[in-house]
Amino acid sequence: MKLLYPFAKRFIAGPDLRTALPAIHSVKESGYYSSIDILGESVTTRPQAEAAKTEYLKLFESLCSINHSFDFSIKLSQLGLDIDRSFCTENLKQLARAMGQHTIRIDMEGSAHTQNTLEICEKVHKTYPHIGQAIQAYLFRSENDVRRCIDNGISIRLCKGAYKESPEVALQSMDKIRASFFKLACQLLKDGYQPAIATHDENLLVELLDFIRHEKIDPESFYFEMLYGVRRDIQRILKDKGYRVRVYIPYGSAWLPYTLRRLAEKKENLLFVITHLFRETFGLRKLR
Ligand SMILES: Cc1cc2nc3c(=O)[nH]c(=O)nc-3n(C[C@H](O)[C@H](O)[C@H](O)COP(=O)(O)OP(=O)(O)OC[C@H]3O[C@@H](n4cnc5c(N)ncnc54)[C@H](O)[C@@H]3O)c2cc1C
Repeated sequence: MKLLYPFAKRFIAGPDLRTALPAIHSVKESGYYSSIDILGESVTTRPQAEAAKTEYLKLFESLCSINHSFDFSIKLSQLGLDIDRSFCTENLKQLARAMGQHTIRIDMEGSAHTQNTLEICEKVHKTYPHIGQAIQAYLFRSENDVRRCIDNGISIRLCKGAYKESPEVALQSMDKIRASFFKLACQLLKDGYQPAIATHDENLLVELLDFIRHEKIDPESFYFEMLYGVRRDIQRILKDKGYRVRVYIPYGSAWLPYTLRRLAEKKENLLFVITHLFRETFGLRKLR
């Protein structure tokens, strides 16, 4: 799987904190907000979950010492959700306690984790209001989940959803997913607490910008959020228009599952990987 790393490099800031820091700095210097994610998920032992927590604490310390404004993103399965729910909740609380005012936004994983994730978020949010939650527009349940998070003052990052889900739980057609995203995004823009609109879909963004202008939504009341290495052109255009754009910056050695999800999202990505492998295997280089 090392062969996929040249592709992964486009989407991750580095395999460790030292290599990721210049990218984190550069995103900040370019006028973007950032949410930093240490790659990792589905851990199966307590020491692995403890190690993930320690990595986040180290990251936090090193960013504090360089006086950078930042948020964090994390997956609950990285903190031990598949091992023991109270252990995972305790790990999240420890991070929230240590990180103070910095938002920790919980990524949403596959639908087997949705209910537990939302319940843990809601519970921890009561004591640590800087916990936020990602919600996936493709799930049928999300309309209720968005309403509930709004009522509880939980900040939401709305995305389409990156996991393969069955027709029993999730919309399957892109048109319907887009329509659901638009509806939920409008609701969040009007009633949500500092929501993040997380998409690179230009058609959706154009429609949402119309909505934002028409409804006179305050640009300081929400963020656009995009993935590191994806559609930097759109990130810049939105920033230049005066909107706050947050870049989700992943780094770390466990880059494979994240990379495979990015690979699945666009067929050109697959072509990039195949071309790269072909060139490397057959020595088809221009530089000799
Ligand atoms: C900040 C952020 C956080 C996210 N967090 C979660 C989460 O917690 N849980 C979850 O399930 N999903 C998450 N996602 C992923 C999301 O669910 C989608 O899978 C992903 O964003 C692609 O959907 P899209 O809305 O950008 O639209 P698409 O229609 O897929 O893409 C629109 C355009 O964006 C560009 N693009 C999109 N993806 C890629 C790519 N991989 N490579 C190259 N170009 C690309 C292309 O130009 C494409 O035409 C997150 C996405 C973002 C932006």
